[in-house]
Amino acid sequence: MSVKAPRGTKDITPEESYKWRYLEDAFRRICSLYGYEEIRTPAFESVELFKRGVGDTTDIVQKEMYTFTDKGNREYALKPEGTAGVVRSFIENKMYAQPQPTKLFYITPCFRYERPQAGRQRQFHQFGIEALGSENPSIDAETIGLALQFLKEVGLENLEVSINSVGCPVCRKPYNEMLKKYLDEKSDQLCALCNERKDRNPMRVIDCKVESCQAAIVDIPLIADHLCEECEEHFSKLKENLDIMGIKYKVDKKIVRGLDYYKRTAFEIISDDLGAQSTVCGGGRYDGLVEQLGGPKNMPGIGFGLGVERLLLILESKGIVIENPQKTDIFIVTIGDKAKLESAKILSDLRQNNISADTDHLDRSVKAQFKYSNKINAKYTVVIGDEEIDKDEVSLKNMDTSEQSSIKLTELVEVLSTII
Ligand code: ATP
Ligand code: MG
Repeated sequence: MSVKAPRGTKDITPEESYKWRYLEDAFRRICSLYGYEEIRTPAFESVELFKRGVGDTTDIVQKEMYTFTDKGNREYALKPEGTAGVVRSFIENKMYAQPQPTKLFYITPCFRYERPQAGRQRQFHQFGIEALGSENPSIDAETIGLALQFLKEVGLENLEVSINSVGCPVCRKPYNEMLKKYLDEKSDQLCALCNERKDRNPMRVIDCKVESCQAAIVDIPLIADHLCEECEEHFSKLKENLDIMGIKYKVDKKIVRGLDYYKRTAFEIISDDLGAQSTVCGGGRYDGLVEQLGGPKNMPGIGFGLGVERLLLILESKGIVIENPQKTDIFIVTIGDKAKLESAKILSDLRQNNISADTDHLDRSVKAQFKYSNKINAKYTVVIGDEEIDKDEVSLKNMDTSEQSSIKLTELVEVLSTII
């Protein structure tokens, strides 16, 4: 019986890994333009971190986490998202004591026990950034700008940015009371989960994917219409910043975040994927999270998470091709044992000189060696036989033009260095 990869996971083979490298390089480059530095946190953390950091009323924590008890009886979970670990590290490494803001980006696998389908896996990957230590709306705009620049850079043009403000504890208190009253009256039309949410996290009902719930709450009051003065001002400054940066957006009052520590800015970036809508990036402000995780008070933060598998699917469906940069400059075809041995030295010289080179390792016929050279897309093929070694002369074939020339074996590396 052969062993299979776990359900909901995918191998990223050489057929695809170059695309990942390309996206990762682009993301790293764009992050560095905005002053973000990379952070790598563990793949697993204590369950408690996610209960507090993601919220123990969320689907992620209630249903989707991969939890396990280790041999020392500690309760851990594979990380279902990137922010909690980064914020834990920010606190644990006392980054808050440095001049702020702290700008961090990450590239990480995430794990969620979900029903696998297109764009939904049990191990998937996220690119993300977190900017801690500033509550200025200019950094919110910058966060959105960074995500957009990255997505444009990799070829996505028709992106829609939706923004909202989810208020703060001050405006949410009276709003939540109003919301609860509204939902109590609709209680019999809501799903069981929404009835639970109604009491603990009423705003999350807006996010429910059950159609009958959506039908029941068409006229639900929205927080964006009930912001306090400070939140209103923060939101209009964000818009001002986006305007001056030339970023188009629309306000979508239905973007919500149900947890207490989320504050003000929430946003999504959607690609008009052949008519279907698909969210590729979501983010927002989480001003209470640092304190929630045991860090200092008044240490605000904002960030986003971007699903890499979904990004790849969107790129593919739009026909955006990522070129495979992998190439072999030289393939050495050998005829005879002496030539084969000599080729080991030449290969080594070429590689030491930063020229990618390969040869046959399966004792193929000359014809088969040429065929293989074609298959790996070598730019040039060098033919070395025992005779050629004695004469100090080898033939060089340009595989694109089929042009052939002969050069001195002793000068091969030097000549190739100038033409590759
Ligand atoms: P959804 O509503 O699709 O479940 P979500 O709200 O759970 O998304 P977030 O927690 O905001 O998603 O994660 C950010 C991004 O990570 C998503 O926009 C998506 O691109 C990606 N993502 C989330 N869950 C998965 C998954 N199981 N497989 C692949 N990508 C995922
Ligand atoms: Mg989800």
